[in-house]
Amino acid sequence: MTAETNPRSWLYPTPRGLYCEPGDFYVDPAVAVNRAVITHGHGDHARPGHRSALATPETLAIMRARFQDMPDTAQQPLKYGESVKIGDVEVSLVPAGHILGSAQVVLGHEGQRVVVSGDYKRRPDATCPAFEPVPCDVFITEATFALPVFHHPSDAGEIGKLLRSLETFPERTHLVGVYALGKCQRVIKLLRAAGYDKRIWIHGALASLCTLYQQHGVDLGDIALVSDAILETFKGAIVLCPPSAIADRWSRRFHEPIPAMASGWMGVRARARQRGAELPLIISDHADWSELCQTLKDVGAPKVWVTHGREEALVHMARSLGIEAEALHLAGREEEEGES
Ligand SMILES: [Zn+2]
Ligand SMILES: [Zn+2]
Repeated sequence: MTAETNPRSWLYPTPRGLYCEPGDFYVDPAVAVNRAVITHGHGDHARPGHRSALATPETLAIMRARFQDMPDTAQQPLKYGESVKIGDVEVSLVPAGHILGSAQVVLGHEGQRVVVSGDYKRRPDATCPAFEPVPCDVFITEATFALPVFHHPSDAGEIGKLLRSLETFPERTHLVGVYALGKCQRVIKLLRAAGYDKRIWIHGALASLCTLYQQHGVDLGDIALVSDAILETFKGAIVLCPPSAIADRWSRRFHEPIPAMASGWMGVRARARQRGAELPLIISDHADWSELCQTLKDVGAPKVWVTHGREEALVHMARSLGIEAEALHLAGREEEEGES
């Protein structure tokens, strides 16, 4: 790869976000733009107001649910594995294994291939297809949990903690704080996979995205709204709610609730305490340190650009593997802890 053909000359960060010049579009821009390509529906990646947004049909459905008016003309669905030419760039979307609809954006230009992976994880998730490594010249990776101390335990083991607590305290309501998009539905699927087939109660703020997941073929079993309950004591029930609702008036209706929280950050004791989580469940939708390292090996890119998170450690690790690595500072990627 010569200096003139370094992808950095046609794909680079701007104050609005990562800009692809020969296609005249942004990937996950921080502000409304003419043409955007969106990796997934989380708020720091999918913003309202783009004149045209290209994304998987699932991500567009999530955006429609979250943003009031999104005209049809602004939506450009592209299924996994299909490709489209935008300007002088071949664009395709490949599963990222993060949440429903999440995709890596594969960009081809002048014989070079760049993969913008968005957020991703490598372990199985029953709510979305698994991450697919795509060989490329440049791999752009997130770094949310990019420190060797971050090792996410098995999801089944964490869900087991919740189920054991229910056995130990069969009268108490188990109140689990979950982010509405992705984490909520994943926790429900993990409970089902562990054999829990009772009704799972949800806070109203989680309802519309659960319905959307069900409409996309994710079977959540028997779920019901707390607000629809009649003569229900919630004794020994599992109730999912947004993290903020745990400390809210809303939670007073429950019987001696045990506050739990499902997030990748629950491995950090101070964060669990700050959230008031008596039962921290380390369930993450992001790659941990070993998944990040494995992914760099799997994609085999000679160059890696590292975004949002702890860039330094991953840059260092990549260099030790002989990869040319640098941090890419992107606008608008604040840490949204609940999504993690
Ligand atoms: Zn995300
Ligand atoms: Zn993110």
